Amino acid sequence: MSSEPTQTSVYVHFPWCERKCPYCDFATEPIRTRELPHGEYADAVLRELDARATDLQGRELKSIFFGGGTPSLWEPEALSRTLQGITGAFDHVHNQLEVTVECNPSSLTRQSAALLRKAGVGRLSIGVQSLRDRYLRFLGRLHDSKEATAALQEATEEMPRVSADLMFGMPGQTLQELGEDIARVAKTGVRHVSAYALTIEDKTMFGSLHRAGKLRVAPQEQYAELFEHAERCFTDLGWDHYEVSNYAAIGEESRHNLHYWRGGAYVGLGAAAVGCLDHGPGRARRWRNEPNPQRYLQQQTVEAEVEKLGPEEIVREALMLGLRTIDGMNLVETAKRAGRDPRAGREREIERSMERGDLVQAEDWLRVPQDRWLKLDGIVRDLF
Ligand code: SF4
Repeated sequence: MSSEPTQTSVYVHFPWCERKCPYCDFATEPIRTRELPHGEYADAVLRELDARATDLQGRELKSIFFGGGTPSLWEPEALSRTLQGITGAFDHVHNQLEVTVECNPSSLTRQSAALLRKAGVGRLSIGVQSLRDRYLRFLGRLHDSKEATAALQEATEEMPRVSADLMFGMPGQTLQELGEDIARVAKTGVRHVSAYALTIEDKTMFGSLHRAGKLRVAPQEQYAELFEHAERCFTDLGWDHYEVSNYAAIGEESRHNLHYWRGGAYVGLGAAAVGCLDHGPGRARRWRNEPNPQRYLQQQTVEAEVEKLGPEEIVREALMLGLRTIDGMNLVETAKRAGRDPRAGREREIERSMERGDLVQAEDWLRVPQDRWLKLDGIVRDLF
């Protein structure tokens, strides 16, 4: 192991929600809040952390992200105990450790935000999705626009950094409506937004309705127009479009997500969590934990799937994630991780993409110009 500790992030999955949203295919189950096993889940995650102790040696903890699911349903005391356990498990902790908790407006209160702050959380990511009641009802959300605005307002007063999730592409949504949502979110003091297109996933209620012809979706051109309009609105605010779906005021980028998009090592803890750790150049190990929360709580062995990544898989992963960002993929860093030049074997594809203007190389970075992001999936596929 080198003397420089490897920067490593931790993702903790909280696998429950108050209700399953009809478009959501995340690994999460609906639960009555009084039935939540707060302490038991913290115990199980800490047990898993303990079992991974050898893997954490020589690593520096860079960020922790509590995602889900709805981690704001977790009692702050249990979440805080988990957080302390994670920071204590690393020999080195970054002096700007970023700790984020995903929240829903319906389960975030001023008091819970204050408790999380006290526990060491510095960033909240709030699932607002829209500030229009019509679309919130369509999306099956538990909050209305008033509650969402109040949650954002209170969060920005209690927490140094707050992000909001917005969704676009609901049937009938206009550019003006999206622009107004963006302006209202920014007005609350939020300085980071993740803006995702509504997609219809197979194994969801929306998927079944769509197959049965009972759900209208926005045409493809409307998504493109909304995407471009969102970019204009954020640019007018002076924010950076630093990843395909993410916008931030200067210096407000999610360090956790940037680490992940740049191919950094991460430990996944909790039911359905995914982790991936490097084991020398050209070698990494990715695992997915038992997705069923009840089985996760009872089990000793939590990994349901394990995958060994070799040089080519590491390069593909780097292309898929790195090219989503404004800086692109770092050729030198990727070569170090993959144990070989990431361009090897795909020189012609890279050249053709460059001729078309879909790829640009500037010094050590290979990137997709921002005006080609709507075609990103196809551009990356051509490089595989
Ligand atoms: S609250 Fe979030 S994670 Fe939970 S079901 Fe809805 S979209 Fe999915």
